[in-house]
Amino acid sequence: MRCPELAATRKTVVFGAGNADAELMFVGEAPGASEDEQGLPFVGRAGKLLNTLLEEVGMQREDVFIANTLECRPPGNRDPLPIELENCQEYLLRQVELIAPTVICTLGNFSTKLLRGDPTGITRLHGQPEVRVLGARAVRLYPIYHPAAALYTPRMLETLREDFARLPELLALGPPVQPEGVQEPVQEANAEPPEGMREAVRERASVRERASVQEPADGGPEADQLGLF
Ligand code: URA
Repeated sequence: MRCPELAATRKTVVFGAGNADAELMFVGEAPGASEDEQGLPFVGRAGKLLNTLLEEVGMQREDVFIANTLECRPPGNRDPLPIELENCQEYLLRQVELIAPTVICTLGNFSTKLLRGDPTGITRLHGQPEVRVLGARAVRLYPIYHPAAALYTPRMLETLREDFARLPELLALGPPVQPEGVQEPVQEANAEPPEGMREAVRERASVRERASVQEPADGGPEADQLGLF
């Protein structure tokens, strides 16, 4: 109800979905038409691509938590307004606090700019992990292109795949050092990594030994007009 226009036009509030104990959390932009209908994030075409990319690194939807910068669909899929991002960020930060992920993957410009608190665009930042404190917790923030952008641009899909391929090694690093006084979440004693994940992590870790994780920023011109990349 904080955003009168969104509250009047949405069908459902898309709170977010997934594993509440997830090590990996994705933050997209805002629900689209399919998400608004079903009340779940990333269930349209971009969501199907996200599922495929996850499977390619040995993970399933059920392993991760998926949220958005906005929980309500902007009418006509327009960009989120600054006031809407501000209204909704308390919910997102609380989700981060409760789920306590190791890695937060921001998808596209809106979530990257919001969680980094900086206007630098995704074209410059994608594929470069950094430790950031969100609320009280330090997380590994990993900006990548939004899957919706990759649906239209094959070259971007290739880059998104490459960036996705680094996720297992990033997760294998474990949580970053926490600010003083922050407790690590207690993991269940019998918690097993998802099937295939251990192998994917091992494989990626050995790739990492041969190649540096960091890539120079591509430094290309910002292509932020669509908000997605
Ligand atoms: N795009 C987003 O950013 N979020 C969704 O939930 C679906 C599509």
